[in-house]
Amino acid sequence: MNDRSSLIIRGIGAAPGIAIGRAFLLEHGHIPVPRYRLFGDQAVAEECKRFEEAVAEAEADLENIKKSIKSEFIEHTRLLEVQQMILRDPSIYDQSLRYIKEERTNAQLAVIKSLRKAKELFSSLSAEDYAKNRIADVNAAGDRVIRILAGQNHTDLEHIHQRAVIVAHDLSPADAIQLQAGRTLGIVTEIGGSVSHTSIVARSLGIPAVTGAENAARLISENDLLIVDGRTGMVIINPSERELQYYANLQDEIQTYLKQISRHAHLPAETSDGHRVGAEANIEVLEEIVAAKDNGAEAIGLYRTEYYFMNRVELPDEESLYRDYHDLAELMAPSQVTIRTLDLGADKLTSWCPNLEEPNPALGLRSIRLCLHYKEIFKTQLRAILRASAVACNIRLMLPLISGMGEIFEAKRILREVQTELTKKRIPFDKDMPFGAMIEVPSAVAVADMLAQEVDFFSIGTNDLIQYSIGIDRSNEHVAYLYEPLHPGVLRFIKQAVDAGHDAGIPVAVCGEMAGEPLYVPILLGLKIDSFSMNPVALPRVKNLIRRSSMKECCRFVEKVIRMRTASEIQQAVSKLVMRKFPEEFRVFDPNWVGNTSLPVMKKSGS
Ligand code: PEP
Ligand code: MG
Repeated sequence: MNDRSSLIIRGIGAAPGIAIGRAFLLEHGHIPVPRYRLFGDQAVAEECKRFEEAVAEAEADLENIKKSIKSEFIEHTRLLEVQQMILRDPSIYDQSLRYIKEERTNAQLAVIKSLRKAKELFSSLSAEDYAKNRIADVNAAGDRVIRILAGQNHTDLEHIHQRAVIVAHDLSPADAIQLQAGRTLGIVTEIGGSVSHTSIVARSLGIPAVTGAENAARLISENDLLIVDGRTGMVIINPSERELQYYANLQDEIQTYLKQISRHAHLPAETSDGHRVGAEANIEVLEEIVAAKDNGAEAIGLYRTEYYFMNRVELPDEESLYRDYHDLAELMAPSQVTIRTLDLGADKLTSWCPNLEEPNPALGLRSIRLCLHYKEIFKTQLRAILRASAVACNIRLMLPLISGMGEIFEAKRILREVQTELTKKRIPFDKDMPFGAMIEVPSAVAVADMLAQEVDFFSIGTNDLIQYSIGIDRSNEHVAYLYEPLHPGVLRFIKQAVDAGHDAGIPVAVCGEMAGEPLYVPILLGLKIDSFSMNPVALPRVKNLIRRSSMKECCRFVEKVIRMRTASEIQQAVSKLVMRKFPEEFRVFDPNWVGNTSLPVMKKSGS
């Protein structure tokens, strides 16, 4: 029996499931930077040598990473080449040596000072200037040298050679997309919420994750044994034998349950009383198509095209975008694929993305606004989508973050312009390609009746709709408690959008994370959603519940729920219903379930 006392830290359950494994610290948190002056020529010469060796080591690291990159991320190698160039750029390399020699400062401080100077220079450039958009790369290159000087030299996802639980202060969506599902057992981050894009990627890859676990990178040491409970948001550091046994059993139970229900994953999403809805997949990269098909997706309800633009030095050109959309259409044909135009900005950034330095990026020039501002980028993407639409006539075009009619008119005008150009050049495209809008902001709900006259379908992005209607940042762990999908205001907005769509005779989907949460199945069915689009891994669970629900019962339930006054009242009613009707689902996934296996008594609570 292991009698060491374990430590428990709590965060937000961001991707369900249990992971048990050794910790791999992606970053060692804040790197302490010592400041000292060098005395004597000998000390200066040694510090110069230390700096030169650190740069050489950083270059060699980048070279090794380049060699290990998989072919689908080959664009990433160019990003690393840029970082190699930055390391030798005179504004960093020569300037750091100058600081060491002339000001007799230690190497780390010298690097920090030259980085600061270089960044000031870049910031003063115009938004269109190439160098301005290299600030993220300057930071990454400098950070690598500083870590080496501090004796911490592994910070990359590519360095993970064993199966491990990744612990980091933060993971950007661009980092998350590089995670290797086979090697990443679980994820623990100090910041982030349950619908931040990093959590969405973790869920897509089926990796249990806990976000917003304050001080995790400080409290967890490399190689600590961890239990990550992605349902409750609990992380147990160096668990006792008893805790290990309990969670290993739970892991088995979850696996058995998932295996059992996945046998029915390819049956139609039809309720027990014959009401059929769509069960579709959200994907970020084409590699996810396999998982989508394996898990019974009937179509791709959301392709988040912005991920193709990440981890690249330059904007992808029309030809490479065309190839991507062509392959997607071909691989899914005759099933439908809904391609969403670029939804960049806020937390989804790329290294070439204009560095706008906005005080409130979630309310800033993101998504469709960014596309309508940088029209050439938008037109290039539209041309590629239109050309790919000719492959199997199975593409639907969808615009994100529509806030009103003006954006629809302007986007349609640009689309017509591109269509005319293609017609002139005799390039084929699907003239009847459906054109849809995402409903993600309250103003779109308010004018949904008018929007419905101009589009062929709606898809409700609940992640953003909740963020903007309650007025909280979806990635901010400090306000995560306010992120309430069952808030009566949110449910009313969904109902209003569905009714407006149906009155105009167009279908309405949900492609936000709500669609992939089994608990919300009775509500979304009762609100008359036509299709559910979710991360591929969630499909079997959601389909299983849809198939065992009665539409009549769900509609009656929603009539009652829509009159309730608080999210917690609604939550209680939904939990009661789901627990009564689907006890097996609850036993393995609901943290509050008290079933046959009693939870072990947790000894200690940290944080
Ligand atoms: C949403 O907001 O619900 C959505 C599906 O879009 P994203 O999560 O990519 O912002
Ligand atoms: Mg959104």
